[in-house]
Amino acid sequence: MDICAKRGFEVIEKLAFERVSGSPEEKKAAEMLYEMAAETGVQVEIEPFEVEDGIVHNASLEILEPYQQSYEVTGYIRSASTPEEGLVADFVYIENALAVNLVDVKGKIVLINGRCSKAIYEKLMKAEVAAIVTGSGSMLDKDESSDLGINKLRPILTDESGFAVAVNTRIRDAVDMVRRGASKAKIVVKSECITKTSHNVYATVPGTDKADEIIAFGAHYDSVFFSAGVYDNAAGSAVLMELLRHYSKNPARRTLRFMWYGSEEQGLLGSKHFVAAHPELVEKTQIMINVDVGAPVMGHEVVIVTGEKSASDYIDGLMKENGLAVEVKQDIYSSDCIPFADKGIAAFNFMRPGAPGASFIHDRNDQLFFLSPEGLNGTLQTAALFTEHVANSFMLPVAKTVPTEITEKVDKYLFKKK
Ligand SMILES: [Zn+2]
Repeated sequence: MDICAKRGFEVIEKLAFERVSGSPEEKKAAEMLYEMAAETGVQVEIEPFEVEDGIVHNASLEILEPYQQSYEVTGYIRSASTPEEGLVADFVYIENALAVNLVDVKGKIVLINGRCSKAIYEKLMKAEVAAIVTGSGSMLDKDESSDLGINKLRPILTDESGFAVAVNTRIRDAVDMVRRGASKAKIVVKSECITKTSHNVYATVPGTDKADEIIAFGAHYDSVFFSAGVYDNAAGSAVLMELLRHYSKNPARRTLRFMWYGSEEQGLLGSKHFVAAHPELVEKTQIMINVDVGAPVMGHEVVIVTGEKSASDYIDGLMKENGLAVEVKQDIYSSDCIPFADKGIAAFNFMRPGAPGASFIHDRNDQLFFLSPEGLNGTLQTAALFTEHVANSFMLPVAKTVPTEITEKVDKYLFKKK
């Protein structure tokens, strides 16, 4: 096959800048992918879609008792606003928000231990807290590299429970508040909800004799704040570009749809948009191939099959037959495979997780320095081998269906109520 990890690695290098959902940089990355895909001569589209976002005009947190100190905070995107003069209330550290922690928190500013999950958010809103404080980063962060995390109250939280006043601080500052027994605080947040535009990029190589059978490829190209997002997921974007470059010159029997998704990091928004907006294409989609995280120098190849055990066994055998060292598992994966699996379409997730301590995700350390073309090659080869077997085979060699036990996990992931 005409695929080349060195050439693919150039895609990663070009995309090595912060590309947050709905930002001008994310749009620039979409346009770059569009240009690269269009160079192959196939039909390429760029599709905009709306994402719920917000602007935080200002946010501050001051401890008033038993000592006085201001700490740097970021307001959650889509946080409720406080009155202009701020909100003064008792301050309490409530650990993991267990029932006992929540007995006496009504009207108080609460500091929680870690991320504000949907389950914790619901509990805090029910308990009628006045405001939520979270901490992020590490106690070991150096001053010059201590990014103050920017979080968002996603619609999945606010749709059911409403909007809270929420701010985030550095974890070392949160620890300082707990250590010094902060008991009263003032929070000011001025925030507004706005809609932003994110983009998906699609390139289609029509099939030569089974054009109605679509193999869908996905990789998200957005990143999170402070991250160049090369491992996660310019690498997957590059794998798709190399496959497109090959199949644009060597069309397969089945139709291949290459899709680079925006806003995955905000809750799989790009792939959810595609699935919702194009039922006629989803209808024809046989299976989905997703690539998310790749190219670390030291790592190992993994395929997670969000489908039948028989499909997982097939890939395991195929890789062994070809001498490729790949760990194959049957499970769900927190990525763009989910909206497809939710439609009953089996998804195959190709990835190369980095060795512990040798790769970094979702922060400023997701850098080119930790990646290599050789690292990218593993995932490129495994994805290409499988693609060739599903794109050009007489019959599809893997089951297209998603078994009940996987569907149940998908439902849980999507917070579907029974
Ligand atoms: Zn990712």
